Amino acid sequence: MRTLEQLTFDNSYARLPGAFYAKLNPTPFSSPPYLVHANPAAAALIDLNPGEFKRPEFAGVFGGSLLAPGMDPLAMLYSGHQFGVYVPQLGDGRAILLGEARNGRGEKWDLHLKGAGLTPFSRDGDGRAVLRSTIREYLCSEAMQGLGVPTTRALCIVGSDHHVYREQVETGAMLVRMAPSHVRFGTFEIFYYRKQHDHLKVLADYVIEQHFPHLREAPDRYARFFAEVVERTAKLIARWQAVGWSHGVMNTDNMSILGLTLDYGPFGFMDDYDAGFICNHSDHNGRYAFDQQPYIGLWNLSCLAQALLPLAEKEALKAGLDSYTPIFEREYRSLMRAKLGLRDERAEDEALIRDFQGLLQGSHADYTIVFRELGTFRSDPGISNGKLREHFLDRDRFDGWASRYRDRLRSEQSRDEDRQRSMNQVNPKFVLRNYLAQTAIEKAQQKDFSEIDRLLTLLQNPYSDQPGMDAYAAPPPNWGKHLPVSCSS
Ligand code: AMP
Ligand code: MG
Repeated sequence: MRTLEQLTFDNSYARLPGAFYAKLNPTPFSSPPYLVHANPAAAALIDLNPGEFKRPEFAGVFGGSLLAPGMDPLAMLYSGHQFGVYVPQLGDGRAILLGEARNGRGEKWDLHLKGAGLTPFSRDGDGRAVLRSTIREYLCSEAMQGLGVPTTRALCIVGSDHHVYREQVETGAMLVRMAPSHVRFGTFEIFYYRKQHDHLKVLADYVIEQHFPHLREAPDRYARFFAEVVERTAKLIARWQAVGWSHGVMNTDNMSILGLTLDYGPFGFMDDYDAGFICNHSDHNGRYAFDQQPYIGLWNLSCLAQALLPLAEKEALKAGLDSYTPIFEREYRSLMRAKLGLRDERAEDEALIRDFQGLLQGSHADYTIVFRELGTFRSDPGISNGKLREHFLDRDRFDGWASRYRDRLRSEQSRDEDRQRSMNQVNPKFVLRNYLAQTAIEKAQQKDFSEIDRLLTLLQNPYSDQPGMDAYAAPPPNWGKHLPVSCSS
């Protein structure tokens, strides 16, 4: 276990051509930084001793006022398609890559400080993040990790009394995000649209060298690299759909080249099931509605394919794109089969899944609760499934479905207890509902960080029953049902 000073850095991105970034240090807050919360699980990824959390230097380094030895801070350049429109230059407008920490296993983790002040890419933003949005990202990235969804991680939040102006005055905070890489689809797009094909090649070679080293020697490495990004993205989005989660701003600058969930903004877990759920209140046309996410994933990949045209054969890239839908569907069906506790793979599964979703939709039943309760289903026709049945408005329709489900379970000799055990490992009891995050935010705004602590621990183990925590599995109270979340964070 290392101290802050013992972290070792290998800042490979900083060795790329100067056109890829702007080197600059974070801008400290106008008032002293203090630790809001730190995450031992993320610290372990860089061998950092959690005992370091309470040192003032910890809040200093991750609150933007000190640098640890070996850091070489920079803001990354990228562009991207936002809501379908190409924006020629974006870049880290409020985040700074402090350095790439290397752990004892040889893995590298970007330490990316979000809310670190103005950069040359800030456009008309202020370079800051508010406490509210850092808490949402902190808790959700660890919740996704707990659910088994590929994601960036979160090391800590450092707060301050520094004023930040949004719809109202709020306080600023910085979040340390961690990932093996923060390269996005948009990092490729910028060099393609600027016709800087030499830079495009340097970037692709760099990403392959660092993250897809098995492709290094392949003559068709760029097309194969693309095909792997397609596969990771399809599998990622299948997982979002299975847990009932919406990203909210699936612009190509928010799409990770490693297939990680990246850039937590107005995201949302569904409470009541609604396929057309729009979590981002600024998304008036529902471009990023829940049921659109799989298509948007493909659309975004087609933007990446276009950006790779100077490096790979068109036909090969097209074949990569064509693999998206079958990979997505296979993955999604397999995740949903597991959520229903089905062991075998059969042709009728798709209809069984779809009809169950139809029941949820018709009753606006709580997605997480009903799937968890489906684990209690008893396949003996003599036993009623009364409690589960109560979730559905159209009881006859439920009965019809339940009898098909029962037949299906019996035909594969499914044993109730075994099935419930395995369903409980894929149907979470706890997800980061908006109202839970909101409660933690409101307490934190009064400088009480205990709810962040409680939620983090809870969400890191979302599949286990946790003593005394059942209230956290409850559907939202009325005040928490339709909390507005938008991009202004
Ligand atoms: P997002 O929608 O959060 O992915 O942000 C899109 C772009 O706007 C990125 O280039 C961000 O760095 C930038 N951005 C978002 N918020 C701010 C802010 N408060 N100050 C400066 N840039 C920002
Ligand atoms: Mg972004």
